Amino acid sequence: MSEAPNGTVVTADEAEARRRGLMLVLSSPSGAGKSTIARQLLEQEKPLIDLSISVTTRPRRTSEIDGVHYHFISQERFQHMRERDELLEWAEVHGNFYGTPRDPVEKALENGRDVLFDIDIQGTFQLYEKMRSDVVSIFILPPSIAEMKSRLHRRAEDTDEVILRRLETAVGEMRHWKDYDYVIVNEDLERAFNGARAILQAERLRRERSPAIGPFIEGMVKDLERELGQ
Ligand code: 5GP
Repeated sequence: MSEAPNGTVVTADEAEARRRGLMLVLSSPSGAGKSTIARQLLEQEKPLIDLSISVTTRPRRTSEIDGVHYHFISQERFQHMRERDELLEWAEVHGNFYGTPRDPVEKALENGRDVLFDIDIQGTFQLYEKMRSDVVSIFILPPSIAEMKSRLHRRAEDTDEVILRRLETAVGEMRHWKDYDYVIVNEDLERAFNGARAILQAERLRRERSPAIGPFIEGMVKDLERELGQ
């Protein structure tokens, strides 16, 4: 723990602790490797970052766990949450509904923890509208269409029809690449992950995310001026 300079009310640790969390949005067409990058970020940045667990009306895939990957809920429950304004954003994707529960996100940000979102462009735009200064968005692209198709087939969890639908959606999504703050082409997983982590770490240091950094620095300047007899 560092000591507060005489003229200031906050220490460097307090200034860091009073940082507001940020919202890191990762979007990509299916098969670009986004889930792997998200998982690694959560592992490596623990406990500074939480995953926003969406609610969805989509049927659970065999590899998925309720409450871990999504909260799997009924259409009626989804409708209920929407009506009560319990969702920060929501969208219909491939005929299913997806949404972000508001409460856990607001709590995390207030407590200085970052939140990772795996949401589509419709959801990203809604977050921009509501809380643009909290959002940092990254669009992840596959290195080629051939690689994207092969990743989708390798996953072997979806039918050919579903994969075709995902590829069609991908065309629309990729047109939106300019709406994101950062773009990463995932040719090599390690490099792509390092890029995403560097973005997160740099964005945490943004001046405007730390309301206490001003008083901290001004206190130091005053101390120094006193020492110098100014
Ligand atoms: P999947 O069914 O493959 O898990 O997800 C399909 C799409 O829905 C992905 O593009 C994913 O990012 C998006 N998605 C997942 N959860 C949410 C959410 O809460 N809100 C929005 N807007 N999109 C979501």
